[in-house]
Amino acid sequence: MTTSSPNHLLLDASAASALCNQGTGSELDGLLKSLQEKDVRVWCYAGEYSDLLSRSKALMESAASSEGLSALTPRQHLGQSLAGVQWLSALAGDLQGNDDPDPIALALTRAATRLGSEAWVVTADHSRLARGAPFVSIHGLKIAQPDSQVAFIDLGAQQDRIRAELEEGIHRVLHHGRYVMGEEIGRLEAQLAETSGAAHCICVSSGTDALLAALMAIDIKPGDEVITSPFTFFATAETIVLLGGLPVYVDIDPETFNLDPGGIEAAIGSRTRAIMPVSLYGQCAEMEEINAIARRYSLTVIEDAAQSFGASFHGRRSCALSDLACTSFFPAKPLGAYGDGGACFTQDASLADRLRQIRDHGQQGRYHHTALGINGRLDTIQAAVLTAKLKIFPDELAARQRVAEGYAELLADLQDAGRITLPVVRPHNTSAWAQYTIRVADRDEIQKSLSEQGVPSAVHYPAPLYDQPALAHSGEDCPESGRAAREVLSLPMHPYLDEATQVRVSQALHDAIASCASAPSQSAAVEA
Ligand SMILES: *Cc1c(COP(=O)(O)O)cnc(C)c1O
Repeated sequence: MTTSSPNHLLLDASAASALCNQGTGSELDGLLKSLQEKDVRVWCYAGEYSDLLSRSKALMESAASSEGLSALTPRQHLGQSLAGVQWLSALAGDLQGNDDPDPIALALTRAATRLGSEAWVVTADHSRLARGAPFVSIHGLKIAQPDSQVAFIDLGAQQDRIRAELEEGIHRVLHHGRYVMGEEIGRLEAQLAETSGAAHCICVSSGTDALLAALMAIDIKPGDEVITSPFTFFATAETIVLLGGLPVYVDIDPETFNLDPGGIEAAIGSRTRAIMPVSLYGQCAEMEEINAIARRYSLTVIEDAAQSFGASFHGRRSCALSDLACTSFFPAKPLGAYGDGGACFTQDASLADRLRQIRDHGQQGRYHHTALGINGRLDTIQAAVLTAKLKIFPDELAARQRVAEGYAELLADLQDAGRITLPVVRPHNTSAWAQYTIRVADRDEIQKSLSEQGVPSAVHYPAPLYDQPALAHSGEDCPESGRAAREVLSLPMHPYLDEATQVRVSQALHDAIASCASAPSQSAAVEA
């Protein structure tokens, strides 16, 4: 009997047909379902489909007299029995140099290895069982699965949903071979422009390069000042400084964590060229007010929309609200690739041309460089990945909204008791919920307690940018940014977070806060 904790079970044709034979509601079916609930992925090997189909045929012929089954074709029967099972691709390497007397057994072994070290192949076939690991018996399948750790984000659940489109898109690029600037790029740009409502979209190699290209497109030079928030990811100010510019920090609105428009005018000077608001955690900054100020002083507005693609502001979309906008397709962002990626957006055709030139070494025609640029193109394979993900993106945004509403309900008592502050989305906004970020006193203790309970959390961000060694400058401190850096805590947030898991996160947070309250804090103990 095998008791261990696999992450993946690959059913070979003999095991899968045993499942079909026993049907839904059987012991085997129940076991597999309970494993799937604990995030074990159950697979069948696509290379065994014809074997599975003939087994299903034979099964139905022998059961022809019994009711129920006969109404289905073997293919329908197979589809019904294996609902919830993922198809694992057969790859060229599975059969290459494979002179095993049971070539499929070796192919299954190779495919299981690809799934990782904790993958078993379940079989009812004695000769395969005799091979030992990774083959295990269908009868010996008793799995002690410890309560799993909550996932902070769950890209696996998303991948299960779009595996066919993803693999098809990636393989198409492998075959056509235009790995740089393939036709997938232009198609994706058109779709992203349409989704956001911006006139032009220019895909680039990361969110950071999107910011850099946008600043280059407006010709930021040494000594130029760009007004921005100090409470953001490092790249926002890093790109300004890389061009010799100076970030001038304006404090945040404590309710939304976004640039407080009321502080902007006082920061404008003769060297100010642009304002770069950050739409943090998925909610747009106050773009209308910011645009109005920028117009008065002839400044350019660049929205750092790395976290807010998909968000809306007064019914319009993030990335279509300013002269320029930049987003990121880093895997953990709401719309993430399987690697680095990003995009610039603009309403202005001549800025769009400049951005296209900048991302490709300033080329205007082959080997004719009329400007300095960067190697900032998005890979075609990432465009294929993003195209598959974009199809389910609206649905995922709705799911994130439901998760956020779930948290608001589950944690309302803690807010009423003054123990936490829930995120606030202004009535004219919808958030893309890149993060679900609360404020809490004793943040580090609470985070430690959550982690001990198997609940991951994160701090976005632990220090304002003016406290980063590489960016330290003599600018004034921003008290609200400093306070936010001490208090913020991001909870698990992704479209596939189910209610039971949310309840578990909420319970863990309640416990963490109760235990931190009962233990007097160090400073209180010293004073006493
Ligand atoms: C992620 C992020 C970036 C940088 O994007 P990359 O794709 O990682 O280069 C910039 N600004 C903000 C606010 C971000 O969250």
